[in-house]
Amino acid sequence: MANEKTYEGSCFCGAVRFTVTGEPLAMGYCHCESCRHWSASPVNAYTLRKPGAVEITQGADNIGSYCRTPRSHRKWCKSCGGHIYTEHPTKGFIDVYAAIIPDFPYRPTVHVHYEETVLRIKDGLPKLKDIRKERGGSGVILPE
Ligand SMILES: [Zn+2]
Ligand SMILES: [Zn+2]
Repeated sequence: MANEKTYEGSCFCGAVRFTVTGEPLAMGYCHCESCRHWSASPVNAYTLRKPGAVEITQGADNIGSYCRTPRSHRKWCKSCGGHIYTEHPTKGFIDVYAAIIPDFPYRPTVHVHYEETVLRIKDGLPKLKDIRKERGGSGVILPE
């Protein structure tokens, strides 16, 4: 049986609240320049979900949006600036940041875009040069 549990999350100040339901399509760490630059951190912990699995329950009109490329629509709270999620419309999923769903049992399985890393992490998980083959990447695994 799929885990259809619902978990609550919010932005940094709590003006925007949302729920995510069920197991993500994928969970891992992204080391790409875009994630690092936008989040101002060395790595981004992601949970990829179908758009229908994410519901904004409060403060939808308080969500700002920015697209540097049409592939990624980055969403944040207009009050606190806290990041909420990134839509990837061309791929058909949403990245909800693991860090803002405190009760969700985050179980990363992979590191992606490790070629761009600034923080090597020796946790034994596979380190993909870019992304998985089935998602259009090279599938190449790099040393930790
Ligand atoms: Zn906020
Ligand atoms: Zn990234």
